[in-house]
Amino acid sequence: MPTPRIVRKRAEMRDLIVTNRALGRRIGFIPTMGSLHLGHTSLIDRAASECDDVVTSIFVNPIQFGPNEDYEKYPRDLHADVHLLSQHGVRWVFAPDVQEMFPPGDSTRVEVSGPAKPYEGTLRPSHFSGVATIVLRLLQSAPAHNIYFGAKDWQQILVIRQMVRDLGIDIEVVTCPTVRDQDGLAMSSRNAYLSATERKRALVIYSSLRQAEKLWCSGVAINRIEQELKKMLSAQEIQIEYADIVDAKSLLKMHKNNPNASVIILIACRVGSTRLIDNLLLPSQTLSSC
Ligand code: AMP
Repeated sequence: MPTPRIVRKRAEMRDLIVTNRALGRRIGFIPTMGSLHLGHTSLIDRAASECDDVVTSIFVNPIQFGPNEDYEKYPRDLHADVHLLSQHGVRWVFAPDVQEMFPPGDSTRVEVSGPAKPYEGTLRPSHFSGVATIVLRLLQSAPAHNIYFGAKDWQQILVIRQMVRDLGIDIEVVTCPTVRDQDGLAMSSRNAYLSATERKRALVIYSSLRQAEKLWCSGVAINRIEQELKKMLSAQEIQIEYADIVDAKSLLKMHKNNPNASVIILIACRVGSTRLIDNLLLPSQTLSSC
């Protein structure tokens, strides 16, 4: 497959997309922060199966990191990323520098309320404003037909969907399933920070989610399932930020099993100094999917 064209400037990116849309080509867009893995390429493959052209952005977005977070040390390897993208049929890689996306004097931010407020929004107060702002700016440079996100960042998808609805952005938001390593750990660029022993301990995140699912399917009360989740995580010395069973759309806490709600378990935790998030959508108790 041909090597993707690397585009550095917003205006050039926009021209390419607008021209190809006018030729009748359907465009799929995958925003990323690079350090790409099979989670990212699953989004790209989905886009390639649904669109004529795929554009991926690689941009480590400074404004979605808090002051004491890992912006400086976030892994960056554009060369390896472009090599991987060339194997997945990506046509353009949009890789602007920080000044291009946030020119001197820049002072506009997108603030989403509602789904951006709890969980990540409380623990990382400027995070979703940073995410919404960059996604909107990227979309102005790459006005695609479809945009693809991973279910691993569940709350992020709700925030983007809210923004797209509120601002009337003409794009289809597609959610793709979480890709895991064979042992169940959700793929993440941040897994590279884990030592071998931390990585082993981190496996309890997925096993606790699956155990919770089992309890859910046997009708155990939600607060008891949450207790069990927390017990399993703590036994591996995982520092829990949250491990809650919530309504998957509103993110409101569920107090008792509601057979009609779509329900998700959300986890954020630290393994050593590495912060990881994961989640699992629970099967409906009314259907025979349990
Ligand atoms: P990031 O580079 O971490 O900002 O992620 C870019 C996109 O890839 C986001 O939509 C993520 O949700 C998605 N993503 C990251 N990890 C995974 C994974 N393990 N499975 C599926 N999608 C993922």
